[in-house]
Amino acid sequence: MNEIEAFAARVEAFFKDRFPPRPQTLEHGWGDDSMVGAAFRVAADEHADLERARHYQHELADAGLAWLDGPVELGGAGLGVAERRVFAEIARRYDAPDLNSLLVGQQILAPAVLVYGSTEQRERVLPALWNGDLVGCQLFSEPGAGSDLAALTTRARRVDGGWRVTGQKVWSSGAHLAHVGELLARTSEDPGTRSRGLTMFVLDMASPGVTVRPLRQMTGTAHFNEVFLDDVFIPDGDVLGAVGEGWAVANVSLSSERDNFGDSGSDLFLRLLDRLVLVVREVGAWSNPGARDRIADAYIREVVTENLPESLATASAPVAAAGASLIKLFATDADRRLVQTAVDILGPSIVADTGAWGTFAWSRVLLGMPATRIAGGSDEIQRNILAERALGLPREVRPLQEDRS
Ligand SMILES: Cc1cc2nc3c(=O)[nH]c(=O)nc-3n(C[C@H](O)[C@H](O)[C@H](O)COP(=O)(O)OP(=O)(O)OC[C@H]3O[C@@H](n4cnc5c(N)ncnc54)[C@H](O)[C@@H]3O)c2cc1C
Repeated sequence: MNEIEAFAARVEAFFKDRFPPRPQTLEHGWGDDSMVGAAFRVAADEHADLERARHYQHELADAGLAWLDGPVELGGAGLGVAERRVFAEIARRYDAPDLNSLLVGQQILAPAVLVYGSTEQRERVLPALWNGDLVGCQLFSEPGAGSDLAALTTRARRVDGGWRVTGQKVWSSGAHLAHVGELLARTSEDPGTRSRGLTMFVLDMASPGVTVRPLRQMTGTAHFNEVFLDDVFIPDGDVLGAVGEGWAVANVSLSSERDNFGDSGSDLFLRLLDRLVLVVREVGAWSNPGARDRIADAYIREVVTENLPESLATASAPVAAAGASLIKLFATDADRRLVQTAVDILGPSIVADTGAWGTFAWSRVLLGMPATRIAGGSDEIQRNILAERALGLPREVRPLQEDRS
């Protein structure tokens, strides 16, 4: 048995001991809530969902399977892409809790702490994010600063021993469940500084002056929030990176967020692809060449999505510089095409919860899809990045000099 086989056997044993196999047959239902990720699901009790996710994450950490490519000295397993892939393949086959509520902390905050954190911050925050103790959120966007993130106006004022922060954030995914937030704020009063006047903080969400107000989406969920900051004190020890270096820290997080659309996207995508195949069989569309063609197309896109990160790792410098944008555009486009295929096959039956078996959950996925074109930087912004960095086209004419890139 080589190393990878031994690792696969260890992962298989971990799941087999704890979870039943993921249902693959129609008798288990193919259009219920289990097909959608937490972001699209109306959780009857999202706190209970979160506790299940944290417990599972603890078990993964105890087994050395939580942070596969993380440094060993910080609780990671020090493994590579091959092991991550093996793990994802096996995990997909078991009915384990959804870890979506932990992803912002692990995929957006953690990479920034790894690159820019002090030794104390890395030891305090990273193992806790990866064993489920800490849930993180991202506090970048504001009502007047989305694509043009450098226009943000939340201010941090220097005081004895730290900073006082006042302002408003919006679209903060999972902030109502989070313990810590990656907070980008303006620390320079000089109006000419734009991105150079920003600093990143790791905010304790329980601090006095933090108010989190959920926003209801058209999917029926209230997955993101407005976050109001009213003279919130943040100690100096929670500045992430140097004062004034927040733009660089933010870009580590944004790049990782887009990269991971390939990863988490493909897991959701694969589950949807399985369900789509069942739908096609159930409604008798299997013999329809058009339906078969679209499923083949969806499958090919899934395989390409899975392999994009590895191919881009060896791409030429300009293409690699736009790699995260390319992954995000491709992965979310593939998801949208797949869902549209299901919608075309199921027809009007998906639009109302008639109790008809296996239909309505697709409508929630469909309604959630437009958000993927916006989250983590909109499609238009990703195309701008591709045009300018990979293709070397001239920068678009715009009054402001930075965007969410
Ligand atoms: C599901 C979801 C989760 C999110 N989670 C978080 C989170 O946890 N934390 C957080 O901080 N933010 C979060 N966001 C916010 C997200 O990052 C912003 O919505 C996004 O950056 C776009 O900003 P905006 O909504 O202000 O739109 P705007 O920037 O106002 O853009 C409006 C439209 O104009 C287009 N546009 C803007 N500038 C240009 C340009 N230069 N060239 C071409 N077109 C342009 C955009 O593409 C878009 O279509 C989330 C958003 C979604 C949908």
